[in-house]
Amino acid sequence: AKEIGRDAVQVFCAEMATRAHEKLERQEELRQALAREEFVLHYQPQMDLGTGRIFAAEALVRWLHPERGLLSPGEFIPLAEETGLIGPIGDWTLRAACRQNRAWQAAGLSPIVVSVNVSARQFQEKDWVERVAAALAESGLEACYLELELTESLIMQDVQQAVETMHRLERLGVHLAIDDFGTGYSSLSSLKRFPVGRLKIDRSFVMDLPGDPDDAAIARAIVSLAHTLQLRVIAEGVESREQLEFLREAGCDEIQGYYLSRPVEPRALEALLRIPSL
Ligand code: C2E
Ligand code: CA
Ligand code: CA
Ligand code: CA
Repeated sequence: AKEIGRDAVQVFCAEMATRAHEKLERQEELRQALAREEFVLHYQPQMDLGTGRIFAAEALVRWLHPERGLLSPGEFIPLAEETGLIGPIGDWTLRAACRQNRAWQAAGLSPIVVSVNVSARQFQEKDWVERVAAALAESGLEACYLELELTESLIMQDVQQAVETMHRLERLGVHLAIDDFGTGYSSLSSLKRFPVGRLKIDRSFVMDLPGDPDDAAIARAIVSLAHTLQLRVIAEGVESREQLEFLREAGCDEIQGYYLSRPVEPRALEALLRIPSL
């Protein structure tokens, strides 16, 4: 039994070493991807339920890997967060999104707001607000066409600090939204202090609509909470006509999800923007 135990320990150690090695390799690969600019942004449109128009789009990063093809953020953002590479990747994303949005305007499309996801580490960097200002200046995009999506959990890590940074961003003129709303723990009193323009109802509450009575109640509660605080509210992950109708009836202002469109390449979004209304 002792022998088996020792073998097991050795196998375990070898496995750990292999895993550590693989991780280093993937980390190095990610670093190179940044240098070679292997990232691309896809855009998922957002529709105003009142007008039926696409008024905004969320920028979602992908890694165009030379061998493995298009990788979704779930496959590399966690490693990027862990290694600190999320800083430069996030910078790239922000600048690319501003540049693209400015290019759409220059091409004569009616202006939309582009939303960019912000990770906690990025948000906590001391020069973050300056970086946002630099991305705007460099692209020539007016601040009001940029929105930053902050998750509830990011904000709750250090509410005081977050509120300060949010006020600095607000003074720049960018919009702020709370992403994945309902999954964190922001209290009503803290929510009141955040200078945000909208709440995004997390997909987990939308998925089982309209059948699930708990989720239906939660979705209605978030809409009424948002409206009480004079915020707009958008539901993400809307996949069906039934979900859309439920949300419309519940007073939700905007939707995003596969029902409208998956995240698409810039050229495909441009085509959607040329359709007068859906
Ligand atoms: P998220 O911010 O909650 O983004 C929404 C995710 O839900 C996207 O996945 C989108 O493709 C997916 N989605 C949208 N509509 C539907 C739907 O109707 N049904 C279903 N099943 N899924 C839908 P994606 O692109 O894989 O992004 C995953 C997460 O990665 C994002 O979640 C966000 O947290 C993170 N992420 C993406 N881009 C960036 C980025 O540039 N920077 C940072 N820091 N994080 C990013
Ligand atoms: Ca988001
Ligand atoms: Ca979200
Ligand atoms: Ca989500």
